[in-house]
Amino acid sequence: MRTTTVVIGAGHSGLAVSHFLSRRSIDHLVVERGEVANTWRTQRWDGLRLLTPNWLSHLPGFAYDGDEPDGFMTMPEVIEFIDRYSSACDAPVRTGTTVTDVRSVDGAYRVTTDDGVWEAPTVMLASGGFNLPHVPDVAADVPDSVNVISPLDYRRPDQLAPGAVLVVGASATGIQLADEIHRSGRPVTLAVGEHVRMPRAYRGRDVTWWMSMTGVWDERHDEIDDLVRGRHIPSPQLVGTPDRATLDLNALTRQGVELVGRLGAVRDGVALFSGSLRNVCALADLKLGRLLDRFDEWALASGVDGDVQRPHRLEPTRLDAEPRLTLDLRSGEIATIVWATGFRPDYSWLQVPVLDRRGRLRHDGGVVTGAPGMYAIGLNLLRRRKSSFIHGAEDDARDLTEHLAAYLGAPTEHG
Ligand SMILES: Cc1cc2nc3c(=O)[nH]c(=O)nc-3n(C[C@H](O)[C@H](O)[C@H](O)COP(=O)(O)OP(=O)(O)OC[C@H]3O[C@@H](n4cnc5c(N)ncnc54)[C@H](O)[C@@H]3O)c2cc1C
Repeated sequence: MRTTTVVIGAGHSGLAVSHFLSRRSIDHLVVERGEVANTWRTQRWDGLRLLTPNWLSHLPGFAYDGDEPDGFMTMPEVIEFIDRYSSACDAPVRTGTTVTDVRSVDGAYRVTTDDGVWEAPTVMLASGGFNLPHVPDVAADVPDSVNVISPLDYRRPDQLAPGAVLVVGASATGIQLADEIHRSGRPVTLAVGEHVRMPRAYRGRDVTWWMSMTGVWDERHDEIDDLVRGRHIPSPQLVGTPDRATLDLNALTRQGVELVGRLGAVRDGVALFSGSLRNVCALADLKLGRLLDRFDEWALASGVDGDVQRPHRLEPTRLDAEPRLTLDLRSGEIATIVWATGFRPDYSWLQVPVLDRRGRLRHDGGVVTGAPGMYAIGLNLLRRRKSSFIHGAEDDARDLTEHLAAYLGAPTEHG
């Protein structure tokens, strides 16, 4: 079968691309292994809410229209939102169709699925940037007596064996799971590496309002000095809850969560934590201060300083005098380890030589390197800092379909 563009994945990114392809009358099809919004249906924990507020949930030609613009969607609400979007843009989605192989054949791409083969001059990889857990090598040395789980398999605390839990990683996922699991009555130790501290609100406005207004989220990939590093900056310590609470390390220690340094190794069954916890936290506090300075400077320069509350700074991260450096994993004290150490895409089906030594896709702002007509969307800092968020899809999808149309020699959107 032939088409012009095969879009792989019917998450919000693939659907946003479909919207722009339809507007340009580019014949295409969206193949999805599960249902629309499959990732939100099958790979997220029950209690998760978006950390981005409803007013920020917009896609090309579509936006949140409920009566709680400042609220945060639950998982069923996110699924319904993306489902409605798929219907609204009448996307040509083939659900239940898994792509098993993509290769270039005679100047086009052959996309093999478990339900047919398509050939197309262009392919959009919208298969997600967070398909697999990124588990560190030290995981191999964890004694078998300890249960291990990734956030993609975690659903709720009562799924875990009774006993204490070590959560490794203190970004958005790690702090949320440490909080939820601790509230379920289990002792929690949180191993903290580099992290991005953020208050839920600042000067009376949601932090995402500041990120949007000051242009942080719009910073482009070609303006960033160290793009490789930028693409690996951890997700911010943020949670979306009805009470709009800030969930940072201070909030967790107030509850009784124990903080330790980054998990460096497991030797003879003993977890060894880095002694750099104090430095890592001081650095996160410093960077937060710089971000708030930037917000304040923007408020002054743009004349809104008088419309928002007065500037203030957050209490520095509080730490025990001597955080522990070791934890004997053979003692039975820790029943479960949660690897909240990040996620990565799965391109195991991609038979085109476009991955680097570490399995990362080589691309320039989503235009895949060395594979004319192949594009990617939905990855961290793909084209902008907001690229991996729902509200980041619109600009990236517009840019990339424009590039794709030019590649095909198709007329412009308005022409
Ligand atoms: C825990 C977590 C919380 C997040 N919270 C927020 C938030 O609060 N706000 C926000 O804006 N963003 C959030 N994000 C980031 C981002 O919005 C989501 O990850 C989102 O799901 C990405 O959308 P996507 O369309 O790019 O990819 P996905 O939603 O992952 O969609 C990719 C689709 O491709 C399909 N697919 C993959 N491989 C194949 C294949 N071989 N064949 C066929 N189909 C395939 C998948 O089934 C999936 O449906 C969060 C991410 C995570 C991991």
